[in-house]
Amino acid sequence: MDHRRPAGAVVLLSCLGALGLASCSAEADPEPTIPGPDITGPDVSGPESTGPEATDTPGRSSTTLAPHTPSPEPSPTPTRASDPSWDPDSIHVLANRQNRLDPPDYAPEDLVYPEVPQYGPEDAMMLRQEAADSLEELFAAGAEEDMHLGFVSGYRSFDYQVQIYGARHAEVGTEQTDLYMARPGYSEHQTGLAADVISIANQDCMLGECFADTPEGQWVAEYAHEHGFVIRYPDGMEHITGYPYEPWHLRYVGEETAAEVFDQQLTLEEYWEQDPAPEYDEPEPNPEHLSP
Ligand SMILES: [Zn+2]
Repeated sequence: MDHRRPAGAVVLLSCLGALGLASCSAEADPEPTIPGPDITGPDVSGPESTGPEATDTPGRSSTTLAPHTPSPEPSPTPTRASDPSWDPDSIHVLANRQNRLDPPDYAPEDLVYPEVPQYGPEDAMMLRQEAADSLEELFAAGAEEDMHLGFVSGYRSFDYQVQIYGARHAEVGTEQTDLYMARPGYSEHQTGLAADVISIANQDCMLGECFADTPEGQWVAEYAHEHGFVIRYPDGMEHITGYPYEPWHLRYVGEETAAEVFDQQLTLEEYWEQDPAPEYDEPEPNPEHLSP
């Protein structure tokens, strides 16, 4: 829907907006700052917590997730466009190494093929309807600026992830496979909300950090949020997201959330005030989730 504004104005307005929000909500530190009896939030025991409850807590529901319950002080309550969800059908579902999809073999029901230039395998070219519509808008907006974007990977099913994770695992083992590839059930691609994009004119750096240096990579970094996408794995944030810089991996979260994440330059984990997810609790993947 955003198709009007000159780039300079966007950046300026965005930064002004960020100033107001950052001061009250940007802290990633999950420790409550006001001592008192009202520490009733769900397990926010600190960044060193490695307990097994993080991935498999059965009682999690989308209604009890705010890590900070309102304090008794009448301090200004930071507001944000969205809270994280553990409902896999939510566009705000959090999937990372500490948050497996539930159920692990979840599959969206509204997958469609976005009508954009496709350069990947056909069985990985769908997105959920809302994300597909937005990707089409993003690509159309880019085309108006002479950006030549290609779509190389969208929804990947649990079984598909079993195949590609298992194949790589058989070759290089757990540590090397985990470095760049999510275990089955933990992949954001399985949500149908993640899209890997490339610069068509620079296919030699498909899915490489060099994408960030292409005109398309720079354009996406600046404008993806206007269409509801964030750069999910920013540079230097591996200790929080679990993944090295992936300037090509876009995650759909809706325009309001994407705008705030962009303005505040946060990871989704920080924005939603969730624990960092640098690694899995289980040192080895479930052997049943590796292809034979
Ligand atoms: Zn990706």
